[in-house]
Amino acid sequence: MLQLADNIELERPQDKLIRRLCTALSDYLDPSQINDCLKAYEYGAAAHAGQFRKSGEAYICHPVAVAISLAELRMDANGIMAAILHDVIEDTAITKNDLVSQFSKEVADLVDGVTKLTKIDTKSHAEAQAENVRKMFLAMAKDLRVIMVKLADRLHNMQTLGAMPSEKKRRIARETLDIYAPIANRLGMNNIRHKLESLSFEAMYPRRHAILSNAVKKARGNRRKIIDTIESAIKNRLEQANLQCDVSGREKNVYSIYQKMLNKKVALTDVFDVYAFRIFCQDVDTCYRVLGVVHNLYKPIPGRFKDYIALPKANGYQSLHTIMIGPYGVPIEIQIRTQEMHRMAESGIAAHWLYKSDDDKAEKFQARANEWLRDLLEIQKSAGDSLEFIDNLKVDLFPQEVFVFTPQGEIVKLPRGATVVDFAYAVHTDIGNSCVSARIDRQLVPLQTKPENGVTIEVITASWARPNPLWLNYVITVKARSSIRNYLKNFKQQEAISLGRRLLEKELQSMQVTMDSIKEDRIQALLKITGKQSMEELLEDIGLGNKMPFLIAKHMTQDDINANIRLDAKERTHQTPLVIKGTEGMVINLAKCCRPIPGDSIIGFFNPGKGIVVHHHECRNSNEVRKKQTSWLDVEWSQELSGEFPAEIRIEILNQRGSLATIASTISELNSNIENVHVIDQDARVSVDLITLTVKDRVHLAKIMRRLKELSIVLKITRVKA
Ligand code: MN
Repeated sequence: MLQLADNIELERPQDKLIRRLCTALSDYLDPSQINDCLKAYEYGAAAHAGQFRKSGEAYICHPVAVAISLAELRMDANGIMAAILHDVIEDTAITKNDLVSQFSKEVADLVDGVTKLTKIDTKSHAEAQAENVRKMFLAMAKDLRVIMVKLADRLHNMQTLGAMPSEKKRRIARETLDIYAPIANRLGMNNIRHKLESLSFEAMYPRRHAILSNAVKKARGNRRKIIDTIESAIKNRLEQANLQCDVSGREKNVYSIYQKMLNKKVALTDVFDVYAFRIFCQDVDTCYRVLGVVHNLYKPIPGRFKDYIALPKANGYQSLHTIMIGPYGVPIEIQIRTQEMHRMAESGIAAHWLYKSDDDKAEKFQARANEWLRDLLEIQKSAGDSLEFIDNLKVDLFPQEVFVFTPQGEIVKLPRGATVVDFAYAVHTDIGNSCVSARIDRQLVPLQTKPENGVTIEVITASWARPNPLWLNYVITVKARSSIRNYLKNFKQQEAISLGRRLLEKELQSMQVTMDSIKEDRIQALLKITGKQSMEELLEDIGLGNKMPFLIAKHMTQDDINANIRLDAKERTHQTPLVIKGTEGMVINLAKCCRPIPGDSIIGFFNPGKGIVVHHHECRNSNEVRKKQTSWLDVEWSQELSGEFPAEIRIEILNQRGSLATIASTISELNSNIENVHVIDQDARVSVDLITLTVKDRVHLAKIMRRLKELSIVLKITRVKA
């Protein structure tokens, strides 16, 4: 145990602080919990040993000071321990796991949460992103205690800015006003908010702050007499009316005075020439009766009465406000509220554990935060006021959004469930269109990964890459979805045009005509007949299978362009076939019924709107279509083929344990992959299966089938060609 205050003269600043902390904790924690906090202190002091604050004090003074301000809010023991340890992961060699084994997972999680938030503010961020940073804070902190520690941390840092260069001071103060004070406000913690604002104001405008503070002090002295007169007049009147209330003079916040002067463009004296009081009542009913009494005492200024009890402010603030004309014609501003409302106004979300001593169990924390939200909802409902604020807040506390960083430290907001592809498109359409993979916090991840709050994502792009239609299965943002669709549509169009050109050139070639030799007026006439604006449009239509290249070629070469062209199959027998690779993409498709592979004799069919579908020559479907002679064309496999083609086999095997595994391993030994297995019939002895596997060509498939046939478990094997 620590030797406390045994020798006052030798007492170091940290000893004094830890004593103050223990005193504060003894108000609401039991001795064993205080002991835990002391253990955290000893551990933290050892970890930070040799580190010093700018002021020259031992570093541990800072986290203890943070813990003290949280003790004033009656933060539970784990929260206090986390506050004492809040910088050890960031600034010392200690890891989260060390904290789990030394203390508990809960404490470790809290410290880890604070560390993550700390990382946010070291990233560069534009001021315009302040709202996103605030939301990110709230979203990342799954536990509200993390935010409270972070706010207390910032408060102490603001209190100890000391001799820092003024440029740096201003930057920190700006950040405090942009990020931290609004968060405190959103959580209803006005006390801490006012402190943050006032300190930031002082750091940013030291002279203005000094002038205003002095003026406040002076005003207090000068007006003491009038204040006392008014206060006792109010007290007397309330006593006569038999109303039990506390009346107190109210200090004006320096920063809010400054704001008022800026916003309303009024002089200092005008802001000050107000005598402000607060009256605390037992219940709501009394508040309204007190209002009646004071309005009877002094004359109210019309239009200045505000009923924030019936119509609370967005963050739940409740009170009656009125301004009256007092003695000597001075304006008197009065706020009337219950103690409960006052607590809520000062501590907001913290009020729930601050004033409930019945049960301080840690797991109740979030429950109480929810309770606070429910209370707010109740207030708003009964007042019939807009629920917008609550909705916003709920989004923050139960986030539907994920905030992530670009490698440059910019924040990108994504809906929950968004993937790396969504992120890539959110950054830039070109990045989305060319992404191939990504690194999340330097770990390589697949594109469908859903990032967590606060991670940094680096998208890896390649010049050859293009959007994959499969991405549409998992992207969730409108931008990604429409960009991918758009790209694919354009891409299909480009492919269709180039296929159309190839088909038309091939037809013309068989008529011994070249495309270039066709006269322009002939082309114009052709476009008119076909109703197309341009040759490209016509080529696209051919490529998509909507126009027969043979017919178009005929039109181009025949003298009488308006002649009714008869289709003569005989004329077409000496055609050179269209050479395909089977991997062209979107306008040349291999039929799923017969699954042709290189080496098969094949035939192509125009499929209006989709391009060409390639079937096996023996496919039953192809025989049907071939009867309509116009819509087919000769195709053949290119000599240079790469890639894998799916083929389907039907296999009858003995139905015994491990037989399918034997089949699978045999197939993979021969460098083929099984894409699908479908059991079509099975009895006790035999199982009939359809297997889809990938092969390079016919020879490859034949080799696999031969090897399978040699297996004793295989009874029969055939290739499926529809
Ligand atoms: Mn700190």
